[in-house]
Amino acid sequence: MTQKRVLITGAAGFLGSHLCDRFIKEGYHVIGMDNLITGDLHNIEHLFKLEHFEFYHHDVSKFVHVPGKLDYILHFASPASPIDYLKIPIQTLKVGSLGIHNLLGLAKQKSARLLIASTSEVYGDPQVHPQTEDYWGNVNPVGPRGVYDEAKRFQEAMTMAYHTYHGLETRIVRIFNTYGPRMRLNDGRVLPAFIGQALRGEDLTAFGDGSQTRSFCYVDDLVEGIYRLLLSDCADPVNIGNPDEITIKDFAEEIIKLTGTDQKIIFKPLPTDDPKQRQPDITKARAILGWEPKVSRAEGLKITYEYFKSLSKEKLYEDPLGREFTKK
Ligand code: UDP
Repeated sequence: MTQKRVLITGAAGFLGSHLCDRFIKEGYHVIGMDNLITGDLHNIEHLFKLEHFEFYHHDVSKFVHVPGKLDYILHFASPASPIDYLKIPIQTLKVGSLGIHNLLGLAKQKSARLLIASTSEVYGDPQVHPQTEDYWGNVNPVGPRGVYDEAKRFQEAMTMAYHTYHGLETRIVRIFNTYGPRMRLNDGRVLPAFIGQALRGEDLTAFGDGSQTRSFCYVDDLVEGIYRLLLSDCADPVNIGNPDEITIKDFAEEIIKLTGTDQKIIFKPLPTDDPKQRQPDITKARAILGWEPKVSRAEGLKITYEYFKSLSKEKLYEDPLGREFTKK
């Protein structure tokens, strides 16, 4: 049997790099692609020595060429934190629109199956709880999150159009908050923010009154769900996430306990359009994929904290997008 070949965009990012690892482990030839704006080559450094891994430094919003056959394409290139897409809104829109168009064209030319990383952000600030796949969402197109939310909604529409019009094999995963090793420490997302603050000896900044909720999924669980979805025959969107919901204030308290920091929680203004609650309904993933998360938040947070602790001191104060922290 000839070896299957998969293209993973956003390969140097948090999720992309874990997907590269998984597909290598499954015996695939993996072609990683990333423009390295928010990705970090350290995440995939260990793969460069492998015969069945190659890397293209390329921006998928420009024409994408990959020689040879392709069986699968996974589109995971995109800024993915609210602070990132405030800083680079146009690139965020381009990778979700021009980028997906290029990749759909490539998938059609190669007769490859394409899976896109969509997001719980398509539900916006949801009025249905927990969120099921048939909920259409409550998104403000012109708010600060609009560039991400609408890019992802467009991406779903475009992918579905290629599926119905061209008969392309497509898959859509709606990813809820996910965490684990290789998250960027200073990208502004709540988990690295809290752990970074604890490691730097700063207070933990809860936004608003901290009563908004999120449901955090450990990265290995997410990757398993994505792998199963790719190999399934379901072209409709599927939620993948952990339904274990927690308020941001309680989450901050868990991080204080985990890290043993003697800092306290301080409250900062709630960002515009910050969703008040979020929890995936995973009935569909359970039924179609036989999937559900296995890693508890306690276990996952422990592994993630160990990872952040192992980073160099400089990393605690740096960010590729130029966010600098003042050393105490
Ligand atoms: N948040 C917070 N403190 C921070 C960073 C984020 O309280 O330092 C809150 C944020 O307002 C949101 C939640 O944590 O309600 C999750 O934020 P994140 O940026 O991780 O992802 P989101 O789910 O909003 O896309």
